[in-house]
Amino acid sequence: MFFKSFLIKYGEIGIKGKNRYLFEDALVKQIRHALKHVEGEFLVRKEQGRIFAESQGDFDYDEAVEALQRVFGIVGICPVLETDDNGFEELAATVLDYMKQVYPEGNYTFKVNARRARKNYPMESMEINSALGERILDAFPQTKVDVHHPEVLLNVEIRERIYIYSKIIPGPGGMPVGTNGKCMLLLSGGIDSPVAGYMVAKRGVKIDAVYFHAPPYTSERAKQKVVDLARIVSRYSGPINLHVVNFTDIQLAIYEKCPHEELTIIMRRYMMRIAEHFARETGSLGLITGESIGQVASQTVQSLAATNEVCTMPVFRPLIAFDKQDIVDISLKIDTYETSIQPYEDCCTIFVAKHPVTKPNLNVIRGSETKLADVIEELVQKAIETVETIWVEE
Ligand code: ATP
Ligand code: MG
Repeated sequence: MFFKSFLIKYGEIGIKGKNRYLFEDALVKQIRHALKHVEGEFLVRKEQGRIFAESQGDFDYDEAVEALQRVFGIVGICPVLETDDNGFEELAATVLDYMKQVYPEGNYTFKVNARRARKNYPMESMEINSALGERILDAFPQTKVDVHHPEVLLNVEIRERIYIYSKIIPGPGGMPVGTNGKCMLLLSGGIDSPVAGYMVAKRGVKIDAVYFHAPPYTSERAKQKVVDLARIVSRYSGPINLHVVNFTDIQLAIYEKCPHEELTIIMRRYMMRIAEHFARETGSLGLITGESIGQVASQTVQSLAATNEVCTMPVFRPLIAFDKQDIVDISLKIDTYETSIQPYEDCCTIFVAKHPVTKPNLNVIRGSETKLADVIEELVQKAIETVETIWVEE
């Protein structure tokens, strides 16, 4: 491969003032982590507001780009040609070789954008621009200079070494994971919650997850599907500690003692309580769900208020105002869709009522929950004690 290195461009983290180095260090760490799975060895380092990932020998270029495109905080991935400074003649030859390799068709408009970060270089930026521009025009007679809207913007950065690049492959944006605390994702096997986890992780939040299953009403395969989804999300978010909670006895108790049209709401309230317990225990500062206003009976504004009431932690619902199709589009983009639509039963769907309440009244719900008073504490305790935690990592 012609390119041996990448220059990494980052956006928002550039504006963090005195804490900027923390964000850069987190980004470097995430880049190292992402490249660990790519064939080849890389040195990732930062240098004066730039991050470089340099291969140390052969590597899989496409795999490396794909891995970098999953690192939150990166806005652009520039394949860069690095060369030593052996005088202008050699630089010019290297630039011509670059243009020939990268733009073999030879007819484009261009502009040279030199930056002299090392001030003892004998030529000034403007001089370098025009001298290199002339060489390119001579070598490729069909090219033209366009200083306003060039098709090719050729960057030449002069530091200890010289860096030549012109292509910017878009990154995912966002912030490096680990720079914004940790949250607990309520992860089901559906389409929405993996997308919700992805979106919050994209803002730099580390993710843990909790999944409620109801064996034998839900199968081992349904659980495996959730593990698979967590694994896909972990490609972006880094490792996820997945808490698998046995919810069967709680669901049966609710089914037996509470009005059936309120089952889903009451069940969701116990999910939130238990999720919050694990969040607190493991250092998460908020909960994340895949809820979206009006999508189903348990997601009307009244239902969301009823579910929300049992939590003291903030509940983040990144999909709250999204249409289903918009959520599907993201799930396709992040590759969770195909797994999400596998037809394995969810614990909520087994105990659903024909006509669930759509406007639950809080006093009524609280009243129904009192019917669980003599058993629920013990059942919740048991669910917590028998949790299975699975370390999920790509
Ligand atoms: P999803 O597509 O994420 O399953 P949904 O549209 O099916 O969402 P609900 O089943 O009402 O909606 O669930 C709403 C949210 O509650 C989910 O997005 C998820 O965050 C959480 N949730 C639902 N069921 C479970 C479960 N079995 N384990 C963990 N969280 C769950
Ligand atoms: Mg669901």
